[in-house]
Amino acid sequence: MIHLTSKLPSSGTTIFTVMSRLAKESGAINLSQGFPDYDCDPELIELVNKHMRAGHNQYAPMAGVALLRERIAEKANRLYGADYHPESEVTVTAGGTQAIFTAIAALVHPNDEVIIFDPAYDAYAPAVKLMGGFVKSYELSPPNYKIDWKAVRKLISAHTRMIILNTPQNPTGTTLKEEDMEELIAITRKTDILILSDEVYEHLVYDGQQHLSMARYPELRERSVVCASFGKLFHNTGWKVGYCIAPALLMDEFRKVHQFEVFSVNTPVQHALADYLADKSHYLGLTAFYQDKRDFFSELMQGSRFKLLPCEGSYFQTARFDRISNEKDTDFSKRLTTEVGVATVPVSAFYTKGTDFGIIRFCFAKKNETLERAAEKLQKL
Ligand code: GLN
Repeated sequence: MIHLTSKLPSSGTTIFTVMSRLAKESGAINLSQGFPDYDCDPELIELVNKHMRAGHNQYAPMAGVALLRERIAEKANRLYGADYHPESEVTVTAGGTQAIFTAIAALVHPNDEVIIFDPAYDAYAPAVKLMGGFVKSYELSPPNYKIDWKAVRKLISAHTRMIILNTPQNPTGTTLKEEDMEELIAITRKTDILILSDEVYEHLVYDGQQHLSMARYPELRERSVVCASFGKLFHNTGWKVGYCIAPALLMDEFRKVHQFEVFSVNTPVQHALADYLADKSHYLGLTAFYQDKRDFFSELMQGSRFKLLPCEGSYFQTARFDRISNEKDTDFSKRLTTEVGVATVPVSAFYTKGTDFGIIRFCFAKKNETLERAAEKLQKL
């Protein structure tokens, strides 16, 4: 028998894989893992084909196709007034999750402390632990999941290396506000604390609010690695292409890891994305598209016994189920999948300590007919 010591003894298989698999096995409607059930724009598929036929089939430059990096920098400039140099401050990654992992691997040293806001995307903490860092999690509570910055200040020590933020936040659908940004600026001023900002839902901010990217604020920009995802933007999560923008000092370190981790990312897809990004309506139209989906799903759920929580952004709607059951959220989600035929994600899976507020997460990035079929089943409970 081989004796093996796990590097991640407390990690199982990620909840997204578990729930999507259970949905498939049970033939349930999958509102669990965050991905659309509609296809991306055929124009984008044509562009990938065009670039494959044009012979763009060998390694891309390590940091990404130059034109794509330029277009990413232009987008950051147009939306956030931030200057990122395409040559030294933009890197194309194999999806948002790789960008997050690479940033942590490159910047967190053994014994460093990293502050994470629970409920948090499940990829952050394991990456910190793999690097020998310590996770200091701060629990946010429903219904508003507001950050109490006084409490955050208490978590900061001489060992704090990084704060990980996610706006709009998965799974809560909440967004950071101006006052949060001011607090963040004050807390990090004159420190070496870095910010890892997961902004994969940057275009999915509703009701006339603006997305507050770290890139907007010079004091935050200089210490931030901002991660983004084309899969979430253009409905092709399976292409696994995202990117990261950061000042050169941080990007240098990021690339040292990126080059040995993936080296470079799918070439024809990068060329296609570069062409597609030239038309800004391709990303500016997303807000209205997803806000309509949020509203459509919320109307469908009116009169059900689920209590929907506020959703200001992302493509997730959270809901309380205490009028239906007092089961643990994990048990309820499983039963909802296998017995009712709708798969969701239990929000406790996003808490380091597994805190259970009796809330589940629905992904509404689905065809209207899928949402209708799901709501019909959920209405019966
Ligand atoms: N971010 C997506 C979600 O929260 C899924 C990403 C993944 O499955 N790795 O569902």
